[in-house]
Amino acid sequence: MLGLTGFVYNDTKGVTIELQGPQQNIAEFLTCLRSGTDKPPLAEIKSLESSDVATIEADDKFVIRKSDSAGTALSQVTADIATCRDCLAEMADSEDFRYRYPFINCTNCGPRYSIVKSVPYDRPNTTMSVFAMCDRCVAQYKDVADRRFHAQPVACGACGPKIRLTDSEGKTIQEETDKVISETARLLMAGKIVAIKGLGGFHLAVDALNNEAVQRLRQRKRRDHKPFAMMTDKIEKIRKYAVVNESGQRLLENSQRPIVLLPKREDSKIATSVAEGVNTFGFMLCYTPLHYLLFAEGLEVLVMTSGNILDEPLICKNEKALERLSCVADAFLMHDREIYRQVDDSIVHFIDGEPVLLRRARGYVPTPLLTDENAPVDVFAAGADLKNTFCFAKQNQLICSEHIGDLEDAEVYHHYVNSIEHLRGLFEVEPKTVVCDLHPGYLSTQYALSIPNARVIQVQHHWAHIASVLAEHGLSGPVIGLSCDGTGYGIDEAIWGCECLIASLDDFERFGHLVYYSLAGADKASKEAVRPLLGLLKKTYGDDFGLEKFRWLLERIEPDKDKQQIISEQLDKQINTVETSSLGRVFDAVAAMLSLGSYNHFEAQLPMALEAIIESGIEEYYDFELIGSSSKPLQLHLDKMLRQLIADIREKTAAGVISAKFHNTVAAGLLEMAKAARKSKRLNTVVLSGGVFCNRYLTTRLVRLLKQNDFSVLFNRDVPSNDGGVSLGQAAIAASLTKHQM
Ligand SMILES: [Zn+2]
Ligand SMILES: [Zn+2]
Repeated sequence: MLGLTGFVYNDTKGVTIELQGPQQNIAEFLTCLRSGTDKPPLAEIKSLESSDVATIEADDKFVIRKSDSAGTALSQVTADIATCRDCLAEMADSEDFRYRYPFINCTNCGPRYSIVKSVPYDRPNTTMSVFAMCDRCVAQYKDVADRRFHAQPVACGACGPKIRLTDSEGKTIQEETDKVISETARLLMAGKIVAIKGLGGFHLAVDALNNEAVQRLRQRKRRDHKPFAMMTDKIEKIRKYAVVNESGQRLLENSQRPIVLLPKREDSKIATSVAEGVNTFGFMLCYTPLHYLLFAEGLEVLVMTSGNILDEPLICKNEKALERLSCVADAFLMHDREIYRQVDDSIVHFIDGEPVLLRRARGYVPTPLLTDENAPVDVFAAGADLKNTFCFAKQNQLICSEHIGDLEDAEVYHHYVNSIEHLRGLFEVEPKTVVCDLHPGYLSTQYALSIPNARVIQVQHHWAHIASVLAEHGLSGPVIGLSCDGTGYGIDEAIWGCECLIASLDDFERFGHLVYYSLAGADKASKEAVRPLLGLLKKTYGDDFGLEKFRWLLERIEPDKDKQQIISEQLDKQINTVETSSLGRVFDAVAAMLSLGSYNHFEAQLPMALEAIIESGIEEYYDFELIGSSSKPLQLHLDKMLRQLIADIREKTAAGVISAKFHNTVAAGLLEMAKAARKSKRLNTVVLSGGVFCNRYLTTRLVRLLKQNDFSVLFNRDVPSNDGGVSLGQAAIAASLTKHQM
């Protein structure tokens, strides 16, 4: 257009363009590039440098050169992207040669991270390498003016991947695209469970309006309680079942297509067993052409839950799916485009009106978070053992992995180790510094300590939580950090979990915490609510505590009197007990006292049930105390709260009211803690992090209270506030410490 000649190429450092032509035209080109007006929808210019170079010979045209794989890899592998409007229009156009093709994609959409084996990001390095492009696809791939110019996964019905439908044994039922689609839809409408291969792995799909079918899926998948996510093709359909405001709609429709947690509508017809004990539904819109083709057959809403058993990793290979899921799925909708990286669906919810990631995976990974300053050396952060992610720091990038899972499962751990190597390769990271949790029993810690020739830094868990928020906001502190969760190893070897830290990226001081109580049976204590409850009752009532006296309360949680007795004695004699300031366990105990269950079948099940029953409009809270001394951190005492709460239960106060008063007390206690820290340290920024802040009611209320008291408040948005965010905090701390020690 501007009559410029020269070349462009992609390498591991980014894009290089060399241009020849009149000065004025080159200047115009740069202005155009900077303004981004003509850029493709997904292109994002993170930085742009220009300089004059000597002319060696005159170019007579503009050419695209082959990618160069030498050098340093900088974020050229992007995240997977939902099917774009243009592709959807072509797929619906009977004149288009990709009419009803389930793998239509272009430069603006389609698989990326999930199909990349190595860098540079070119077709031979992806799982598309086995499909030779036909002439029509090649023509588009090579045409600078085409929407599919250099779209690595480009394909069509003649040359690309294909779908097929098999029975639960893997025997093909249908191979012809249209018949596969219509037969799959027919099976789903008849209440069958179909394993559907998607972008980042298999989903198990079932009609979300058919309670009997959903229950069958629960039973077969051995997932008794955890809410299922759902998918549909139109926002209007979601509105029938959940409350969607403007920001909710924007999030549902963005190209990352996360699962969005939305308030349930009371008149919703969704099967009750889809999401019990929570007040939200997780919905996502279709994000692959195959999903759209299926829904076009007249499906309403499908449960689309991860294709795995229990807590094993998401399954992405056809053979593995047949092997592991044949006892769950009645049929398999498969395809022959290999998924190289399994990537779960991401989950987002809203805190104080802002979208906050609860699980960061498909659509978001591997996009790095950028920092202002470069890390002096490459860093590997091992993360935490639950809801694990890991993270690399390289130059100005913090590269977080996708959600990996709970490392105690052997397959998840294996996946963890492989994933580290893969992401390290994609970004060509050579870690000189390794950072991990302080917990000696964490598998991630042991992994980090086993890495040869690296300097290892161990970082306290709650400090890492606070640092994750600092890293997201480009701050270094110090701030007042409120770090609240279930479990984290403390520097005094106690189990911390409700901490007020004065924290920066370089150091922290424990300013205050929930007063310690005893927990019996370390591993079981995070599951069985009777354990923290007995610890809290003994702490509160001291010598006044007696099992007989509290039998009325305990028997609704643990009917086995002998077991009550054993735990009680364990606590008295301090056998296999730990001292803890865990706030998560207090939520467990309160939920159990209100008869909402006595066991966490999945992490935070009881706290979520407690949040779900809150009666709105209650401002009351229970009494609490903050007790300080010159030698010890400030202590938050909840004894008074517990006595008043138990009195409320005796007086048969509605559980929803008690739950509200309990949440309000926690918010009030944390507010007072922050005020004390402000007074003593003259700091005004409060940072909230830790799994407890996945609680929307509590966090929204606390943010409001803090703002009313003129604090500035920050919380996690780009990474989860639960343990999925720990690796980012670890990486930021290690990068900062390394910088200052060089
Ligand atoms: Zn497209
Ligand atoms: Zn083709």
